[in-house]
Amino acid sequence: MRVYSFSRGGIHFTDPTVPPRDSSITAFLPGLSVIPLVQHIGSKANPVVSVGSRVSEGMLIGRGQGLGSANIHATVPGRVVRTVSWKMAEGLTNDALVIKLDGSFEKLGRHEEIFPWQSLPAFELQRIIAEYGIVEMEGSGRPVSDMFYSLRSAGTPVTLVVRCVFDDPWLAADYVLLRERLEAVAEGSRIAARAGRMDRIVLVFSRGEKDLGQQLLEAMTKAELPVSLALVGARYPQRNRRELELVLERFAREEGIELGTILALGPATLAAIHDAVKLKKTILDRYVAVGGSAIKKPQVMKVRIGTRIGEIFAECGGFIDKPRRIGSGSPLLGRTVVDLDEPVIKTSFAIFAILPGQIGGGARSKCIGCGECRVVCPVGLDPEALYKYMNGSDSRDVHVGRAAECHGCGCCEVVCPSRLPLSTSIIRSALKGN
Ligand code: SF4
Ligand code: SF4
Repeated sequence: MRVYSFSRGGIHFTDPTVPPRDSSITAFLPGLSVIPLVQHIGSKANPVVSVGSRVSEGMLIGRGQGLGSANIHATVPGRVVRTVSWKMAEGLTNDALVIKLDGSFEKLGRHEEIFPWQSLPAFELQRIIAEYGIVEMEGSGRPVSDMFYSLRSAGTPVTLVVRCVFDDPWLAADYVLLRERLEAVAEGSRIAARAGRMDRIVLVFSRGEKDLGQQLLEAMTKAELPVSLALVGARYPQRNRRELELVLERFAREEGIELGTILALGPATLAAIHDAVKLKKTILDRYVAVGGSAIKKPQVMKVRIGTRIGEIFAECGGFIDKPRRIGSGSPLLGRTVVDLDEPVIKTSFAIFAILPGQIGGGARSKCIGCGECRVVCPVGLDPEALYKYMNGSDSRDVHVGRAAECHGCGCCEVVCPSRLPLSTSIIRSALKGN
């Protein structure tokens, strides 16, 4: 089977400090759950409960407000004991409801009632997906209902891309989820395709996961639409939209099919769509890869949303030594965590604690002009020149007009021996219109 790869730049990213991908373990339920009102890209959900309110597992506690915002639900039964606010690394504030565990679970350990969806119209499926607050869980946090909404103005055909591209080892949790919940991902894909009135499904797998791709293809024999499997390279950032579209264009040409507009969703989101529509269940848990050089026992854990990061590290044996950096997401692009009381949210696919010397953990020094950043940029930019211009250390306006083409993959930053914050600065400046 042919393997499709983008042609320029990129890196082969390996990291021995990520957890093994063989299975997940279930984390302890937290006594206190911290449920942020922002677990999506848009504005804060409007709380519909207050301090003292009793809540049940899966109950709506915050209503999404407009585009980019999603409903928020309690993930444990109990009582709201207080509200908290904390500053995140970027200076933004997040507000959360703190729930003290108390009472019985309505979902956990109970027989799951199945709700048939095959006869439901697309708009009803979309309504259910919005009601249960499903967002893109592989990082962006964009509400899936907004994604469906944006398809209304798209021409036809529309293709659902089931994105199983593991170009970053920190996607270990989604890999484990895919293996453990293959049937749910398969059915979630069929539901998503129906909800988005799509014409075709393409399963996109990294070349090393061909067998898993075949298994998912076999699990989709009941699909109402044509389904095909495409193998892509594992060089990072293959799963980025730009690089994905580049290779899918070639795939479609050679297969003689038309893909039209593409909507790409990952395994965690598709399993959540399955749970919302078929089990009437919101996102209660997240598979999380917990690792990094400072962690004693890296592992993939199934964690209840709202569990504090400090408690998860404790379940992994704590720290070997004082971490230089703690973060959420992949160390390639992840967000720094400044407070261990921050909780796991819908988009927390990985959390890490790293010692000096690991990617993102080293001290900065001056550019040595090695040119490595240029070699790995998949867009063909000159990150060194852009960084220096934006930093004011070089006044020559070399390629600044192209800064907006940077899609923030972080390749330049990873290879920079001087540990300069290249992509972060370039994106920030491009957003400001510099
Ligand atoms: S300049 Fe932008 S697109 Fe190029 S490698 Fe750096 S982050 Fe990626
Ligand atoms: S990789 Fe870093 S040190 Fe090398 S040229 Fe680019 S900015 Fe300078």
